[in-house]
Amino acid sequence: MTEIGHYIDGARIAGTSGRSQPVFNPATGEAAKTVMLASEAEVGQAVAAAAAAWPAWAKMPPLRRARILDRFKTILWDRADQLAEAISLEHGKTHDDALGEVTRGLEVVEFAVGAPHLLKGDFTEDVGTGVDSNSVRQPLGVVAGITPFNFPAMVPMWMFPVALACGNTFVLKPSERDPSASLMIADWLTEAGLPNGVFNVVQGDKAAVDALLTHPDVKAVSFVGSTPIAQYIHQTGTAHGKRVQALGGAKNHMVILPDADLDMAANALMGAAYGSAGERCMAISVAVPVTDAVADALIERLVPKIEALKVGPAADRASDMGPVVTKAAQERILGYIDKGEAEGAKIVVDGRGFTPPQGYENGYFVGPTLIDNVTPDMTIWREEIFGPVLSVVRRPDYDAAVDLIHAHDYANGVAIFTRDGDAARTFAHDVEVGMVGVNVPIPVPMAFHSFGGWKQSLFGDHHMHGMEGVRFYTRLKTITTRWPTGVRTDAEFVMPTMG
Ligand code: NAD
Repeated sequence: MTEIGHYIDGARIAGTSGRSQPVFNPATGEAAKTVMLASEAEVGQAVAAAAAAWPAWAKMPPLRRARILDRFKTILWDRADQLAEAISLEHGKTHDDALGEVTRGLEVVEFAVGAPHLLKGDFTEDVGTGVDSNSVRQPLGVVAGITPFNFPAMVPMWMFPVALACGNTFVLKPSERDPSASLMIADWLTEAGLPNGVFNVVQGDKAAVDALLTHPDVKAVSFVGSTPIAQYIHQTGTAHGKRVQALGGAKNHMVILPDADLDMAANALMGAAYGSAGERCMAISVAVPVTDAVADALIERLVPKIEALKVGPAADRASDMGPVVTKAAQERILGYIDKGEAEGAKIVVDGRGFTPPQGYENGYFVGPTLIDNVTPDMTIWREEIFGPVLSVVRRPDYDAAVDLIHAHDYANGVAIFTRDGDAARTFAHDVEVGMVGVNVPIPVPMAFHSFGGWKQSLFGDHHMHGMEGVRFYTRLKTITTRWPTGVRTDAEFVMPTMG
């Protein structure tokens, strides 16, 4: 049995808490590994290593920090396949999907390599006579990242490349379901020349998270996961004086207007609903065809495509979609399909009776599912299913489609498919959702833009990566300077003004 431990002060270390839990291969249901769950003392050890490494790291010129990240980026490119394989084994997603995740994470490293430019600050000459002012962005200190199972490499890379480039040191608490990627990343950062203690990993559950949220030396917490936990992280972290960004769950809609290219929309829906078995926070889980005619034509196109999907393990490189992450997730998703049926929706393609490929009978597979006639009072519309289940909510017109989106508590991503530029522009401007796609089903912003939803999909003030990341991981200092030729000789007792 392989034991997955922590990474503290530049080395892999075994856990000492005595608590652990199995890590499953979702394709087979086997548990060949266990992950150690850190105690408060072990978290304290990681934070202490990060705090000790911070002064020297913060003082290192940004260019030299960026060069270390640049070497890490090269290692990551060279070993992307190896990392993708490790992700698939614990998460279940297909190899190409895992490679896509690594690439999207790597793009944030590429962005962070430009940190000297991002940190260069502002300068104004002569804010007063002989007086200059400049603003600089300085690091916070030790910062923590708490990440979900669905992107074990990409989501940590939304956080630490920017945090490190800005001069912070980092403690990562990855998901306990797929912990191996975090240690590979830690090894490769050290190999790239990162000083010991600058990047640390503690495996664990709520106990480790709570230790990070309450530790006085942790200055900021970045979180990605489900909404109830995001809310808890935000409340607890801010109550302990930390800067917090906490990204939560999602229910992403795709509006299909009558003038849309329906073949394009159907293909887009296939990838967006069933890619990664629907376990993406930007997955489209609700199709909103405008008019019944559009709904019927769309479903007619979708059904044969869904039936042709190849569901299987990542080991079979021809698989389009793998299993879901755990037995509990499988049961939850199947339960939602039952509930949809019980509440009166029409199961058009039923993933409940799916037969896994030979040799994978114990894997956590759910067949791709399409449910029509879903209405806003149903549980399957209100709640996040996080599986390969696409609901169709029919709407009679554009306004009703937008009202539906606005009635939901989540507001992570949304898409509209249309050829009407006027409608698309109005939609993009008016819709109350953080990330919008126009004929783009999964509008995940590139690394140099920023990722984040609205409403119950994000708690805190900053989105992730891009300039938002730089702002989150730095604090602003403004320095006002006068040299002797500008000095006034008389004492001033009024509020100083410049000029
Ligand atoms: P999760 O909320 O169960 O877990 C996320 C992290 O929180 C993990 O590290 C976990 O160990 C920790 N955690 C779990 N329960 C906790 C508790 N009670 N107290 C403290 N910490 C706890 O999420 P998940 O199942 O790993 O990931 C799926 C969820 O993440 C979905 O809701 C998905 O929409 C969301 N997600 C959102 C985004 C986004 O950008 N908005 C991106 C990816 C995933």
